[in-house]
Amino acid sequence: MKISKEKILALLNTDLNILKDEAYKIKLQYVGSKVYFRGLIEYSNICNKNCYYCGIRKDNKKISRYEMTDSEVLEAANFADKAGYGSLVIQTGERTDKNFIDKITKFIIDIKKKTNLGITLSCGEQSFDTYKKWFEVGAHRYLLRIETSNDDIYKKLHPNDALHSFKTRVNALENLKKIGYQTGSGIMVGLPYQELSHIASDILFLINFDVDMIGLGPYIEHSETPLYEKKDILTPIQERFNLALKVISILRILMKDINIASATALQSIDPEGREKALLYGANVIMPNLTPTKYRDSYLLYENKPCTDEDAAMCKGCLERRITKYGETIAYNEWGDPKHYFNRKKEKK
Ligand code: SAH
Ligand code: SF4
Repeated sequence: MKISKEKILALLNTDLNILKDEAYKIKLQYVGSKVYFRGLIEYSNICNKNCYYCGIRKDNKKISRYEMTDSEVLEAANFADKAGYGSLVIQTGERTDKNFIDKITKFIIDIKKKTNLGITLSCGEQSFDTYKKWFEVGAHRYLLRIETSNDDIYKKLHPNDALHSFKTRVNALENLKKIGYQTGSGIMVGLPYQELSHIASDILFLINFDVDMIGLGPYIEHSETPLYEKKDILTPIQERFNLALKVISILRILMKDINIASATALQSIDPEGREKALLYGANVIMPNLTPTKYRDSYLLYENKPCTDEDAAMCKGCLERRITKYGETIAYNEWGDPKHYFNRKKEKK
């Protein structure tokens, strides 16, 4: 399917309720009303990078750094398995040293041995060989947001050095796809410097890249980051929230059979934000499994919700809300994106 940037821009200027109805119809037709869970393990907030927007960036000296222990990671995986979540996501600050790579490898091997969980990784940019190794031991999905598809804006959001290169990030995404991962990407919506026409280009980027999964949410400022300086030029937070829902709807309408995760950042703005997004086209939710004692240290942005709740509390709370919105939870299913299999079929 070829769609022009102008058409996408026209969709971005369409009333949100119209897009919502269309997106929900397409969601029911192509992926159904089931919500897939991915238990989220925020393994460590130690990060070598300095993205200007992120609260756990290396130069933020005001947070205490942690790494979950092996048994904490396995316990969280065990909880997900027993709770019937089907899949989990290991997310972390970015490191590329051997200890880190070996640790993630070991987690994948151990979790695969002890549970039936599908494993998604969100561990940043790594070498082709590292991605390949993790894939070979059993991870089969990877989330790497492009953040923005505009190289100039990318430069304004990151230090200008080899560690923060737009090209490297695109290349990493290409490597993930080449290796065979179900590949996910996404953006932050409502960033400083970002106009609607940029978002139209971002959507076009995600379509042309042919992603299998989307993870996107509103940008939320964090006072201990350099980008906080730009807080006065941001659009109000409720507008960023609505715009993120709009982008989710448009991606559902245009990409149809992909998986779309409802970002936790939506919940920071509206307590039921994640569940609401299910009515705008999202079909994946990531209940947090990180031990409560670490949650205050994994604040990518401020006002992150549920930092005082444990995994069991999150589960009960989510079940109630999802049922309220008329969706059903798919327990004990991996919930792979249909798009992945359809694009493989088309290739043959
Ligand atoms: N280090 C990995 C994974 C953890 S960060 C990586 O960067 O890929 C996961 C995502 O959090 C990032 O991709 C970014 O889109 C999001 N994020 C970081 N800071 C944020 C902020 N201030 N507001 C909203 N989302 C943010
Ligand atoms: Fe590190 Fe990811 Fe935050 Fe960038 S966005 S500073 S890579 S955790």
